[in-house]
Amino acid sequence: MKDLIADVRGWIDSAQRVVVLTGAGISTDSGIPDFRGPQGVWTRNPKAEKLSDIRYYMTDPEVRRLSWQSRLEHTAWSAKPNSGHHALVTLERRGKLHALITQNIDELHQVAGNSPERVIEVHGTMRKAICMSCGWLGPMQQTLDRVRAGEEDPPCRECGGILKSATISFGQALVPEVIERAMRVAGESDVLLAIGSSLQVYPVAGAVPAAKSAGARVVILNAQETPFDDIADAVLQGSISEILPQICGTVAPAN
Ligand SMILES: [Zn+2]
Repeated sequence: MKDLIADVRGWIDSAQRVVVLTGAGISTDSGIPDFRGPQGVWTRNPKAEKLSDIRYYMTDPEVRRLSWQSRLEHTAWSAKPNSGHHALVTLERRGKLHALITQNIDELHQVAGNSPERVIEVHGTMRKAICMSCGWLGPMQQTLDRVRAGEEDPPCRECGGILKSATISFGQALVPEVIERAMRVAGESDVLLAIGSSLQVYPVAGAVPAAKSAGARVVILNAQETPFDDIADAVLQGSISEILPQICGTVAPAN
């Protein structure tokens, strides 16, 4: 394992365009539960999945009321980036981070200090609210303030439409431009680093074989096996917040 970490470190040291793909596993050390893992929210409480299904959300006011309560109580509001997130900020400061594709909706990469323009959020963000009718977009906390003040299902102030977090729910289409950008940057990488993702959700999981066939080295760092371990140049299983700082290095001293 130690040799493997040194190898990966060497690949990143000599790389110019590292593309990182992150999933829920990088945020669990910040106290944000994984939805799909063995201890996942959905695994333990299947009813919670209903709150994330757009069909129930759009038709059932009770589902929306419960969703707003669950947004108020979300662990992300008090979560802080961990050393895994900080390692990716170091990677950017070293001038190596080409793009950071994330399946996470918590914005902890931006909170840690990664440039928003390098972060590609394939599943959107929970830190913004969006109107499902007119497309109004605003800070989630502003809308949550209305919930705290007593509005159980606050409507859009522009058009009266249904508001929701700006995330991709079940049954909702991904944003084609976002996915195209993710696939394009994956194909431009010389190292693709997949972190904390089971790599089972498509189309984003396709970024891994896309990078590989374009000639990139593929490194997978995840607690469990993934379907792409066989094509990876290195598979690291262990604590993300411990391993990632070792492979991302430190900011080079100024000359
Ligand atoms: Zn509206």
